[in-house]
Amino acid sequence: MRRRPKFLETLPPAPQALPICTQEITPPDLSPWLADHCGIPGVMHHEAPRPGPHVVLTALIHGNEFAGAIVLDRLLREQVRPACGRLSLVFANLAAFARFTPDNPVASRFVEEDMNRVWNRQSLSSPRRSTELDRARAILPVIDTADILMDLHSMLWPGAPLILAGATESGRRLSTMIGDPPLVVSDHGHQAGPRLIDYARFADPDSPYAACLLEAGAHWAADTVETTDSAVRALLRHCGLLPAVPESPVAASRHLVVTDIVTAQTPSFRFVRPFLGGEIIRRQGTLLAQDGPDEIRTPYPDCMLVMPNLRPGRGQTAVRLAQTSYPRP
Ligand SMILES: [Zn+2]
Repeated sequence: MRRRPKFLETLPPAPQALPICTQEITPPDLSPWLADHCGIPGVMHHEAPRPGPHVVLTALIHGNEFAGAIVLDRLLREQVRPACGRLSLVFANLAAFARFTPDNPVASRFVEEDMNRVWNRQSLSSPRRSTELDRARAILPVIDTADILMDLHSMLWPGAPLILAGATESGRRLSTMIGDPPLVVSDHGHQAGPRLIDYARFADPDSPYAACLLEAGAHWAADTVETTDSAVRALLRHCGLLPAVPESPVAASRHLVVTDIVTAQTPSFRFVRPFLGGEIIRRQGTLLAQDGPDEIRTPYPDCMLVMPNLRPGRGQTAVRLAQTSYPRP
């Protein structure tokens, strides 16, 4: 029998099935990349003689999601160089990553605050300080010159890999052009604060710059590394930084739009079963969850569940509901 991961034993009992947090991967050794190579520790630049876009790949915005860091480390060890433009590889929340421990792998998501909720000018230019705000300010010169950015993440609860495109047409276009993974979801982010992809440089409707966020699979699954690797190389090919591979056609993406954010209003929020991220519920009115006296049902047919959180605390997002966009891209 599989032993329950230790950190789950410290959580209160809940009727939902718990995620099986098998740790198939271990944190990469980033020590070769932490020196002050380009003026900012943990940031590596490579510039091609030919002009082209500045493409930025960010890993470790959440310190315990290191599949993306493994892929950036792999690109650096392979000495991948852009054919044009500039490639910047950013290991973001190094302070949180340094605290990762297999015995409590969820604790190192951040040190003081979620680094993916601080990306507005007001917070970044305020006198307020935190580990994450300080680091966001340190890497800001890279973010502020990015033409195209992909932010690499993974998921605690099981679900299909997807690309979050934010709310912009440019994000949607970029995500569907990458096509790997082929599931693209447009959304408006979180009330708690803007994500990196919601930063004004990318999220202003008239901006020529574009960003997307990869959710590549379960945090510590080996498949998540390969999904990330594949998506990163597809992006670099799409931007012309890596040569095109003619025999690997881009898959047709499926594009959905988040229509509803279901927030747990009571501590007794319970899904009726452990839904998977990316699951499509065919019938309108299907019961998803009970939240105190309220029933949560699908508002339309073919409703997709985006990253359900099977154990939401009161006030936390339990699930986002997404609808296939029309006209289809
Ligand atoms: Zn994340």
